Amino acid sequence: MRICRLGRDCVKASASGKRRAVRAHFALAAGLFLCLAIFLVPGASAQRSQLRPGWNAFTPQEDISLGKRAAADAEKQLALCNAPRVDAYLTQLGTRLAQKLPTGGVQYPFEFHCVNDKAINAFALPGGYVFVNRGAIEAADNEAQLAGVMAHELSHVALRHGTNQATKAQAAQMGLGIFGAIFGGSTGGALLTQLGTFTAGGVLLRYSRTAESQADVMGTQVLYDTGYDPRAMAQFFEKLEAEMKGKNPPEFFSDHPNPEHRVERVDEEIDKLGGVPSNAKRDSQEFEAIKREVLALPVVKKPTPGAAGVVAAPAPPSGKFAAYQANAYTLKYPDNWKKYPDKDGGGVSFAPEGGVLDDGSGHSALAYGLIVGVAQAKGDPSDSNALDTAARQVIQGLQQANPNMKLARQSERVRLNGQPGLSTYLTNDSPAGGQETDWVITVLRPEGTVYFVCVAPQSAYSNYDKTFSAILDSVRFTK
Ligand SMILES: [Zn+2]
Repeated sequence: MRICRLGRDCVKASASGKRRAVRAHFALAAGLFLCLAIFLVPGASAQRSQLRPGWNAFTPQEDISLGKRAAADAEKQLALCNAPRVDAYLTQLGTRLAQKLPTGGVQYPFEFHCVNDKAINAFALPGGYVFVNRGAIEAADNEAQLAGVMAHELSHVALRHGTNQATKAQAAQMGLGIFGAIFGGSTGGALLTQLGTFTAGGVLLRYSRTAESQADVMGTQVLYDTGYDPRAMAQFFEKLEAEMKGKNPPEFFSDHPNPEHRVERVDEEIDKLGGVPSNAKRDSQEFEAIKREVLALPVVKKPTPGAAGVVAAPAPPSGKFAAYQANAYTLKYPDNWKKYPDKDGGGVSFAPEGGVLDDGSGHSALAYGLIVGVAQAKGDPSDSNALDTAARQVIQGLQQANPNMKLARQSERVRLNGQPGLSTYLTNDSPAGGQETDWVITVLRPEGTVYFVCVAPQSAYSNYDKTFSAILDSVRFTK
């Protein structure tokens, strides 16, 4: 699960020089304009930035249905604060902010939840399901700063950044058939279903830096329009930056550059809005009371995803093998495993009884077994780098669907049924709890990229290693 990268710089460094120059120019022009405005249009200021959602294959209604499912899932997986007064306060504050949010006429069913997690963070799922960590409330100096974080999150909802990212990810996968193979259904339908689960929701929460910057600008406008000090959001981010210096930064801070650009962009927007109002609201007694209540909540350890139920390990793989024949290849698999063909992707999965787990919301995830897929190869197969490219595409596709999947070892050249292939080891969160090992073998064939993904929890991998090797040794490509 990935969460919104609060505190991360959003402005590209290369654009900074230009921006500074533009800003100086703007200040001069604004000065002139202001002189005229005194006589002509009292109170007129420069136009605020106009932001609109980007390219999106989903409808706003789909944002809501996706977000609703992912939120139901998140509520099961996360430890919530279970503090009715805190939730009521977040709802009241969030609703006030949401009323000033430019949603283009879409009625989002906003919901606000307090998460019992000390990490300073917050995230919003498409459709308006906002989760605020207790850590963010505890770290905020005043109500305006908390409002700033929430306004930033709400802006991601209005700008539909989650499904915009998913649209881009989906486009990148077109022709690869990865989603079909992994999720065992039609590509688009399966993507929609899978995105509705919180674990897969990583795709929905992986914003670009541009998206972060847009959320900053719109968040500033929302703060301004609700009467809060519009500097509060950027101040909160700066404070986080300062506090993290010299310490081991959490994941979302690890690659943050140039915080001053973030503040600079926010300041620019405040200028456009006409400056900080003299009566801007900063704090409330209510916030201070809520913060005290949150600080007194018991600390809950984060549950491991998938660890909610006790999952019995599957029976060991049988030494006897059954045969499987596809168009492009044949292979043998343990005869106590079942096969799960993918209707349209040409892919198939093999897993023992208990190897496919419910992720808690009716969606299946493979914890033990093998996935075989055939993806359309892009590029020239006679190119000596084509295999590397194909393997990279396969791994990128897997990572899109599994945001926590990481390379464990550099790829190595291997042979499979005499064909050159690439062997890559990855790690990922296991649906059975803890980490899993994913061994991926990629081979280029005339019909496309054929890939084999061997999956088992790290703790049990040594019991499956031999079986995976035996399956791969049995592979025969047809023709
Ligand atoms: Zn963000």
